[in-house]
Amino acid sequence: MISKFIFTLVIIFLGAIGFAQTEKIFVSNYPLAYFAERILGEQVYFPDIEGDPAFWEPSEEELANIQAAELIILNGATYEKWRFFTSLPESKVVETANVFNDHFIYAENEVTHSHGSSGEHSHSGTTFTTWIDFDQASKQAGAIKDALIDFTIGDATTISENFELLKADLSKLDSELLELTQGYSELPLIGSHPIYQYFARRYDLNVKTVHWEPDTYPGEDLWQELETVLADHPAKWFIWEAEPLAESVARLEEMGLNSVVFDPSGNRPSSGDFLTVMQENIKNLKPVFAY
Ligand SMILES: [Zn+2]
Repeated sequence: MISKFIFTLVIIFLGAIGFAQTEKIFVSNYPLAYFAERILGEQVYFPDIEGDPAFWEPSEEELANIQAAELIILNGATYEKWRFFTSLPESKVVETANVFNDHFIYAENEVTHSHGSSGEHSHSGTTFTTWIDFDQASKQAGAIKDALIDFTIGDATTISENFELLKADLSKLDSELLELTQGYSELPLIGSHPIYQYFARRYDLNVKTVHWEPDTYPGEDLWQELETVLADHPAKWFIWEAEPLAESVARLEEMGLNSVVFDPSGNRPSSGDFLTVMQENIKNLKPVFAY
């Protein structure tokens, strides 16, 4: 009985140490968490976030944890909206997308609608879904590697080796997509959400987007808007950021549009990891570029 009690104490103690370790490096979205954990070989602090981390707001306690971290790894490209009303110890902040900040894409006159689980929000200004251009993803991973070495967190040799393996995986995704999409730059496509800008640029795709949520049936105004877009952009494929409602898929089908999912995985996936989600995305896109 006593040994069981001591055993429980040890487990609690180890749990506490484990928790302390996860606080060392903060990351603001799941792709960064995946990259950092692959490179460091250790768990990092990515809070449990409901919905899209791009529209997250840290609680006071979470903000205190972030401020206390040894290294604060951000996406940048205005991804972290919460940064504008909080103060961070700037010397510990790394904005991973900054390495290509002269290639940011700006969205003008973006409408504010979309009334799904993440509420009403806009995508005006600098667009931030940088990592579904896998060349950019690789550069962001490189910025994490450099920061870990600069801050002497972990073993530099292991970090460099792990980074090379990750880079090879990202490069494989990149070349697969480049190959798959080659010759389809004219093919009209619809994106469900204004997040495919960097993706469309990298893979030379003709994407126009609406602002729909996969878990919400679009109102009649949104269907009307889609009709207007289709008038001079006769797409046959509708790319969703997550699994859509069956009713939405059925109505799109009536309009001659097939649904496929390309999930940017900004938040932690319910199964698999960044790599398996992206491999699944590429597999989903195959019929789009089969003709
Ligand atoms: Zn949105």
